[in-house]
Amino acid sequence: MKAYEQTLTLLKTLSLRGVAKSLDEVINDAEIRKVSYITLLNTIFDTEVSYRIKRRVERNMAGAHFPVLKKIDNFDFGRVKGIGKSEVVNLLDCRWVDNRENLLFFGPPGVGKTHLSIALGVTAVERGYKVCFERIANLIKLLKTADIQKTAEYRIRRIMKSDLIIIDEIGYTPIEKREANLFFNLISESYEKVSLIVTSNKSFESWAEMMGDSIMTTALLDRLLHHARVFNLDGESYRIKNHNKEV
Ligand code: ADP
Ligand code: MG
Repeated sequence: MKAYEQTLTLLKTLSLRGVAKSLDEVINDAEIRKVSYITLLNTIFDTEVSYRIKRRVERNMAGAHFPVLKKIDNFDFGRVKGIGKSEVVNLLDCRWVDNRENLLFFGPPGVGKTHLSIALGVTAVERGYKVCFERIANLIKLLKTADIQKTAEYRIRRIMKSDLIIIDEIGYTPIEKREANLFFNLISESYEKVSLIVTSNKSFESWAEMMGDSIMTTALLDRLLHHARVFNLDGESYRIKNHNKEV
């Protein structure tokens, strides 16, 4: 076997796919620049590490289940009250995820709650964190079927092993008592272990009514609000504003 082919076989055996993909480039570059053996070795390992990090971010981006991709750069802070650009820029370092803090976004429809949540989630994935995005309606469906459906069980397991869970659209649909209990258990289990972003169009006061159990809702909010930053957004709906512009 030729040396080159042997290298490729060895790389395959060791699952060093990053090096295998860039082998020609790495070798040619080393020959042109006449680098030392140790420099070449470092380049080889570095190539593999970079490849693995990139692959992991791609996998985590897909596994997050973002409904669309949104960026902070495309968010117009002039259109919304209750949050400033500098506050959000400070959040981009993700220290709040390390500290297991929660972010709660409240406000009427169309003010950018989901946009900001996704943008922060995408940044967290890019920085190496594991993130799961779910609308509350789907989260509850998953919780209800996790016992009987493998895909739901798998998803819930990924959610619980995430660094950040984004729960969107609390308040749009009423939640039955049993469902609220399942939701409470999830929040309780993730308490101080996982960061949360929660968005809601309803203020805290209406949550008890929505969940049909004031004692449980108090306990739920207690956990959510401990180590949390609350943003009460307000403004004209971006959807309606843009619609009017088009009409
Ligand atoms: P909400 O979740 O509060 O109902 P969304 O985040 O879904 O609102 O926003 C609705 C649409 O308007 C999305 O396409 C979003 O990207 C856009 N949008 C909302 N607010 C802004 C903003 N301040 N700057 C740019 N786009 C915005
Ligand atoms: Mg939304």
